[in-house]
Amino acid sequence: MRTKSILTEAKQIERAVTLINLGARLQVLESETDLSYERLLRLYKEVSGKSPSKGQLPFSTDWFMSWQPNIHASLFMNIHEYLNKVAEMDEIDTVIKAYQLYQEQTQAQSLEPLLSVTRAWRLVKFVDNGMLTLTKCSKCNGHYVTHPHEVAKHYVCGLCNPPARAGKGKAAGGLQMH
Ligand SMILES: [Zn+2]
Repeated sequence: MRTKSILTEAKQIERAVTLINLGARLQVLESETDLSYERLLRLYKEVSGKSPSKGQLPFSTDWFMSWQPNIHASLFMNIHEYLNKVAEMDEIDTVIKAYQLYQEQTQAQSLEPLLSVTRAWRLVKFVDNGMLTLTKCSKCNGHYVTHPHEVAKHYVCGLCNPPARAGKGKAAGGLQMH
């Protein structure tokens, strides 16, 4: 019989609690911890004070391509890529840390964090499996979330080329990328 290390389990519960507090869906916890569904459900109710929402996770890459979400997703991915390079952490801890920093960034600019932690987690998976990537903008040199077939030479990001309906200076609600 395999004995589960108490420390490993404590670490997993801590991760799960952090994710619940960040607003993660139950599916994220199921995927990222070895805790049983029943325990996760109890933990979820205890920490958030409510039952987890039912229904499917967002599986499409479309959301990340619309204008404002793309800028938020790109901000998150830039933080994530940076942490990936400089810090040795487990994958899910990198997502958690990057998401906390993303929240700090949006709060500092009095913006609504459009990207949920569940979407942020999905985004990392999409980039990992090559469905999305980061492409350098040919005008500002910032890196933005795009489909993998984007031609970098001609690519212009949503901040350099906001849609006509977006007021100037209101770009992504004023979100600064640099
Ligand atoms: Zn640009």
